[in-house]
Amino acid sequence: MRDLCGREIDYVRVSITDRCNLRCVYCMPEKGVASMRHGDVLTYEEIVRTVRALASLGIRHVRVTGGEPMARRGCLDLVERIHVIPGIETVSMTTNGLLLAGRVAWAREAGLDALNISLDTLDPDAYRRITRGGDVAQVLQTMDEALSLGMRVKVNAVPVRGLNEDGLTALAALAREHPIQVRFIELMPLGCGAALEPIPSDEIVSRMTSAFGPMQPDAQCHGFGPAQYFRPEGFAGSIGVISPMSHAFCGRCNRVRLTADGFLKLCLNHTAGLDVRSLLRSGAEDSALLDALREAILRKPLSHGFTEAIGDRESRRMNQIGG
Ligand code: SAM
Ligand code: SF4
Repeated sequence: MRDLCGREIDYVRVSITDRCNLRCVYCMPEKGVASMRHGDVLTYEEIVRTVRALASLGIRHVRVTGGEPMARRGCLDLVERIHVIPGIETVSMTTNGLLLAGRVAWAREAGLDALNISLDTLDPDAYRRITRGGDVAQVLQTMDEALSLGMRVKVNAVPVRGLNEDGLTALAALAREHPIQVRFIELMPLGCGAALEPIPSDEIVSRMTSAFGPMQPDAQCHGFGPAQYFRPEGFAGSIGVISPMSHAFCGRCNRVRLTADGFLKLCLNHTAGLDVRSLLRSGAEDSALLDALREAILRKPLSHGFTEAIGDRESRRMNQIGG
């Protein structure tokens, strides 16, 4: 469906938990994280019902995210249930990859079309430091499994000054060997990210050009999102940049988000949205659910407003929103 700004909204990111097996420094505090109460988190029944309603409004693509989606028991059963909803064309997952090692074939069978793997460095020590304890070998195993099954794979990295900047070209070089997209996403000033310094996309592009030579824009479209892709000479895949801060793409935004506690978020940085959980649990009929979702999506904010003074700025962390 189209919102009041004329944008076609066909994509939902569904966060199924705010819990995570890692504590990436730009996303979650190391200690003292209060998790959502079990009873506040949508059940899989409730998620499936909401996605079915969204599909009838024109949502075609679903991304399962978190927290770490694989940290919630039954995640792949949910993938299977979403995969068969009429109207849903693709189901993908954003994951840190650790808990999928050894289980990608199962995920594929459940109907997972594509994987976005978050990986900020290939250096085992730096990875352990950034994630506060993760083992990069498991992430690479997941990537290899997915590639050997012919799945579409993207690697997402958040470049942070003084944190992973030395390893960014080594990370990008994964796309030389493999038919994947390595994407650099500008750090957003949400939660723990607000205290760190982002490396802007323009700087990433010039670093990559110095390392790999001229970067031809990659004409092939890779997905439904806002990344700009480049393919250096001799690369099997490509390098992408996503620039929410330096080159906002709100005018082309195609997505809404469902948080694990059942709030339909219309924009990453705005609190505006719909309390879907209350609707579902107050016994709303399908028609009432559909009307409420439609009304909410129509009012999707025009821009994220990260760089302006807006009244209803988001105070949740990324693990609570789903990225
Ligand atoms: N745990 C899964 C993962 O890491 O892929 C899914 C959830 S995580 C919140 C989704 C994405 O958000 C990750 O790629 C992560 O790097 C990114 N992220 C977290 N905090 C961020 C921030 N402040 N700015 C930009 N991206 C952020
Ligand atoms: Fe967990 Fe993903 Fe946040 Fe890292 S970025 S702490 S893996 S939710």
